[in-house]
Order: sequence, then structure tokens, then C-alpha cells
Amino acid sequence: MEREVDFDRVEYATNRNLEDDEGNENGHIKMFSYDNETFFYDMTCPYCGNSFEGEDELGSRPWWIECPECTRSTNVFRIKDAHDRKVKERGADTDEVPDV
Ligand SMILES: [Zn+2]
Repeated sequence: MEREVDFDRVEYATNRNLEDDEGNENGHIKMFSYDNETFFYDMTCPYCGNSFEGEDELGSRPWWIECPECTRSTNVFRIKDAHDRKVKERGADTDEVPDV
């Protein structure tokens, strides 16, 4: 179920583990986009271990992917969000709920 990625065209890519409620990294997501609008993902659900893939248009945050098997949703933040999170960790003012 590996999706071919054309890295010459990729604008955005992420590849990281996903945690369940206890913080166990049971899941994984690989996500990429060629235009920063349509995102393709290949995900292993951290809650039930189901692997699935799909594509979606990423709008505004927060962005969630729902597992078709157990219907739990996982919050997926983008590279920009990861940067924001670092700012939060440094203690900058924010009125947003952290991603974790
Ligand atoms: Zn699941």
C-alpha cells in the first residue's frame, strides 16, 4: 500500500509517529502534497492499528483524519503548526489549545 512519491514535485511531506491517549507511539502517518492544497496520506491508526490511505484538501486548522475502522479521529498538524508548537513551548502567548 505504499504510495509513490515524486520528491521532485513535493511541496510538503511529513513522516512521523502518532500517539494514542496514553502517549504510546502505536500509529504512524506519512503525508505529502504537491501543491499545499491537496494532501495525500498513508496512516496507521494509533488506536486500533488499522492502516489506510486517502487524500483530502487541507483547510484551516485543526485538521483531523478519522479512522474508518474505529472512527477515532487523529489530529494532524502541518509543518507550519509544528513551528507554532515550538513557539508555544517557548512560552509565547497563545489563545489556542495545544495540539497535544
Ligand atoms: Zn482506528
